[in-house]
Amino acid sequence: EAKATGRDMACFYSVQTDKRALARQSLEQHLRRALERNELSLHYQPRVRAQNGQLVGVEALLRWTHPTLGLVPPSEFIHIAEEAGLIRTIGAWVLQEACAQWMRWRRATGPGAQALGRTVMSVNLSAAQLADPQLVPDVQAVLARLGMPASALELEITESQLMDNAHAAQQQLAALKALGVHLSIDDFGTGYSSLAYLKRFDIDKLKIDRSFVRELLTNPADMAITRAIIALGGSLGLKLVAEGVEDMATGRVLTALGCDELQGFHFSRPLPVPALECWAAGGASADLRAPVEPVVPV
Ligand code: C2E
Ligand code: MG
Ligand code: MG
Ligand code: MG
Repeated sequence: EAKATGRDMACFYSVQTDKRALARQSLEQHLRRALERNELSLHYQPRVRAQNGQLVGVEALLRWTHPTLGLVPPSEFIHIAEEAGLIRTIGAWVLQEACAQWMRWRRATGPGAQALGRTVMSVNLSAAQLADPQLVPDVQAVLARLGMPASALELEITESQLMDNAHAAQQQLAALKALGVHLSIDDFGTGYSSLAYLKRFDIDKLKIDRSFVRELLTNPADMAITRAIIALGGSLGLKLVAEGVEDMATGRVLTALGCDELQGFHFSRPLPVPALECWAAGGASADLRAPVEPVVPV
């Protein structure tokens, strides 16, 4: 009886595994052709100055519209792109497209586009890009070709990426800094890392991970961790950004705690270009654009 059940289970699992492997393989095959088929695009999420709600930056976020599955979230295809060796090509496209978009805004005359042309464009890097000796020359070439100032570009790197190959990463980051681009640590507080790297790497900014922000107002541990990150970042002279701000109350507390910039659904979801231009032109509701007033944290 128990044996039969065990056999059934084993059978069940292997069918599941086969299906999953097949689905993955098919995703990978599609992903290989996604770029040439124009299925990849970028959405942009605004980032605002905590003190006054003013637009200061946008983060480019990759979107894939699969011919039959529709929109596939990055959490489901970035790792496939990494494992399939596609991420360098895709990453290079993201960098080029995000910078080209920033330049279109820079030259545009509409009020939304003009405001966007004064922001800093953030682009996420993958581990493979950070390990690639072509990264620095590629970034430099994109900026030069487009005539974009390096100071308008920010690259986001996670802690685990830095720790994977700390020595190579240190040299890459130093070379990127020498170009004049800004560097930020994404999802800060969630990686396996030693704080010592904050001393070694020339970083400008920490992005406090969404997992601490989500329940900031109700979970004392999240509040304690967030305070500690802000204190640490502040005393190291780093800018602090909170990601995943979904309501005004959380935004106000983060501002009072000393966060410099806020990003999250409360301000805007990641948007395609036309919707973002509308938002930046003041198309959002008054409530969304209202300044975030500092209040005493609970
Ligand atoms: P990330 O860089 O930490 O980007 C922020 C993610 O949080 C985005 O998810 C964004 O939609 C989501 N988010 C922002 N505000 C809120 C909020 O208030 N509430 C909630 N629930 N979520 C919020 P997305 O676009 O699905 O991207 C997920 C991750 O995929 C990114 O996390 C980044 O690690 C990766 N990714 C996205 N685009 C790229 C890319 O071009 N290259 C690389 N290497 N990775 C990318
Ligand atoms: Mg990011
Ligand atoms: Mg993040
Ligand atoms: Mg994140």
